[in-house]
Amino acid sequence: MSNRAPFTRLVAALPATVPFVAPEALERRNGRHMKLRLGANESAFGPSPRAKEAMRAAIEQVAWYGDPESYMLREALARYYHIKMEQIVVGSGIDDLLGLVVRAYLEPGDRAVTSLGAYPTFNYHVIGYGASLERVPYRNDQNDLPALAEAAARVGARLVYLANPDNPSGTWHTADDIQAFLERLPADCLLLLDEAYSDFAPAQAIPAIDVNDPRVLRLRTFSKAFGMAGARIGYAMGDVQTISAFDKIRLHFGVNLIAQVGALAALEDSDYLQQVVAEVTKGRQEYAELAHSLGMPSIPSAANFVSIDVGGPERARALVEALAERDVFVRMPGAPPLDRCIRVTVGTTEERAAFAIVLREVWPSVAAASLSHQ
Ligand SMILES: *Cc1c(COP(=O)(O)O)cnc(C)c1O
Repeated sequence: MSNRAPFTRLVAALPATVPFVAPEALERRNGRHMKLRLGANESAFGPSPRAKEAMRAAIEQVAWYGDPESYMLREALARYYHIKMEQIVVGSGIDDLLGLVVRAYLEPGDRAVTSLGAYPTFNYHVIGYGASLERVPYRNDQNDLPALAEAAARVGARLVYLANPDNPSGTWHTADDIQAFLERLPADCLLLLDEAYSDFAPAQAIPAIDVNDPRVLRLRTFSKAFGMAGARIGYAMGDVQTISAFDKIRLHFGVNLIAQVGALAALEDSDYLQQVVAEVTKGRQEYAELAHSLGMPSIPSAANFVSIDVGGPERARALVEALAERDVFVRMPGAPPLDRCIRVTVGTTEERAAFAIVLREVWPSVAAASLSHQ
């Protein structure tokens, strides 16, 4: 008899995983600070000044628990989208909400469908709750909608995950494509539409909000365009019955008071949001031109990052390493075909200029070294 309490069979069988190696871990490893943090698609522009001011003032109330219903924020979001408050649940980011959706919909052994190499947190939760994944390869660097629908029908999937715009490719589908995709899914399958980057996308990429449709749950966040990743706050929109299930399982005081206040103020500052989006659009163009000037294609992006095609996974790995050596944090996609790329978050004007200098300096030796390996 061992003198320790056993884990559940489920947890005992889970592989040790680190879904993301954080830049802080790289800093500890290298014993130096990252000078350019362009690897996690955080906002280089930060939150709206109004959100910052509201959060500073809210510190005075931090002895209190935040409102477990996030009432004021949900009310404001309901007005913003012309939907009911009961169609919105607030969580500590999309990552939190994805876990709750998986818990609400997947029994151990159930199947979920995603793209091979898509945003990994969904997979993490699916595996963590004992369900399993069917992964569909990207096609032309896009989510392959017909193949995803076909896979969902074939495996009897309960959940299908789709990010639009997509991470890590940055590509996007039109609202019509998404609607047609929804029509092709099995009747008992929920579409998780992760719209973390919707603020950066063209209007045609955003399907009309029909949150009364029980077949789809839309996920949005204050982490990207609103510049509040560290505050941990996002929300899901769906039909009333779907949303009410969250109240049975969510952590009722999990969304902190400061984040709720900040998100409310951020939502009200649409001018600031527009400025950020305009700057990001400009930055994407600059990155595309930078890549082109070094002889590399880049994938057209509707998000706040650009994936640059460096020609293969070994080169991508070498370049990520070489940039880290120069205290520049970027990431590379985890699976083919996108693992031939590095993914670079749009920084401020100064950060983009600094990145261009470092990339021009390190790229020739990375390109030459990987050539000699062939
Ligand atoms: C960044 C990102 C998230 C994380 O959102 P949080 O609200 O910070 O948890 C979710 N989905 C995608 C596709 C992302 O890129």
